[in-house]
Amino acid sequence: MPSDIPRLIKGRSSPHLRKAFPALLKLPSLWTRSYFLSTAGTVSSAIIAHSIERQSKVSPMPTVSKTFKYKLEPTAEQMRLLQRTVGLCNWLYNTALEQRITAWKYHRVSLTCYQQHAELPEIKEAFPEFKNVHSQVLQDVLTCLDKTYQAFFARRKTGGKGGFPRFQGSHRYHSFTYKQYQNGAYADNGFLVLSKIGRVKVLWSRPLEGTPKTVTISHEADGWYVCFSCAGVEMPALPKTGQEVGVDVGIKSFLTTSDGVHVGNPQWLRKMEKQLKWHQRRVSRRKQGSKRRKKAVAGLAKVYQTVRRQREDFHHKQSVALVKQYDVIYVEDLQVANMVKNHHLAKSISDARWAQFRAILTFKAACAGKSVVAVPPAYTSQDCSRCGMRVQKSLSVRTHICPQCGLVMDRDENGATHVKWAGQALRGVPGLPGPLSRASPRL
Ligand SMILES: [Zn+2]
Repeated sequence: MPSDIPRLIKGRSSPHLRKAFPALLKLPSLWTRSYFLSTAGTVSSAIIAHSIERQSKVSPMPTVSKTFKYKLEPTAEQMRLLQRTVGLCNWLYNTALEQRITAWKYHRVSLTCYQQHAELPEIKEAFPEFKNVHSQVLQDVLTCLDKTYQAFFARRKTGGKGGFPRFQGSHRYHSFTYKQYQNGAYADNGFLVLSKIGRVKVLWSRPLEGTPKTVTISHEADGWYVCFSCAGVEMPALPKTGQEVGVDVGIKSFLTTSDGVHVGNPQWLRKMEKQLKWHQRRVSRRKQGSKRRKKAVAGLAKVYQTVRRQREDFHHKQSVALVKQYDVIYVEDLQVANMVKNHHLAKSISDARWAQFRAILTFKAACAGKSVVAVPPAYTSQDCSRCGMRVQKSLSVRTHICPQCGLVMDRDENGATHVKWAGQALRGVPGLPGPLSRASPRL
């Protein structure tokens, strides 16, 4: 009832409001909170009802699913319980895998996920320690196993390579998932309440947005983390700039744009490499199974973690800059897996982790209402970006010099410009500067 609105919304958060008033579902959450809460009790219900009516015609902001990760600060006792839960999940995973394998080997029966789910109560009877793990967490373990099976069969169907689902050693198994928020896991008053584990302190490093769907607890080199995967996270589109750009991925520089911007390859990995080597040597010197070796392994894992975080941070910053400035970003559709096979380039390419950057860039662009277009990479670094002539050059030649039209340009810049043109041709953008025909790019 509209007349109830001002009374009902006082002191309520927007998820509650949206539940009580389905019409609000169509509104951006900021509007729900600020408008309603600030006007509670002072605006007539007729006006509010009218506003709802009017606002619901405005198309809602696009939303995406996103994961929010926070560090946990469990007590010593909670840490023990978390570790035990991971251990039990690990055991269940391996046992369920074994069961599937033997069922097939001796009886030619392929067990389904449901059949395995149905056996959970029996397992709990036989092994009472499993009563200390939330049932949905156990179900999720079996679902995960099923997914790896499905993926394996899908790969085999398409003739792809890839191994059979394998047993997971304790050093590879680090996490467990509550597959329904509020069923065994939920945030309460700044804490994360986990069934069978307790109220765990969370470092809320940024606000949680959207509607949490699942909660995953994982153990990393420096402690415990929680990931909330949330649906309906609002993504305000970035203003359009009318600019398009081609991006070339280099070995010498991380990326080069057709506008002549060079972003250097980050040197931190090289710097970290010395550290990594030192740690690796330390691990290999120590006796297998010893306490000192375990310590060394933990040290090595920490260095790896630092490198990964620095790389991610770098990728996020670079992609934000591109998405802010350009509406359409053309990138080479590089087959990274193929290039890594080439030993000489392998290091640089793996370092740059192009595939990861592409994924981040594409996601950010989609969120901001912009687009990333992949262009087949053939000859982009060879062909002249002004006249289209093929100018063969080895990797060591850093400058493109065209004997036909006289264009002298940095090699990567020429490549980026070519990527932009080829991409615009693919999209059918009319109007070509120069004689290179966009209708038939030389690919
Ligand atoms: Zn030329």
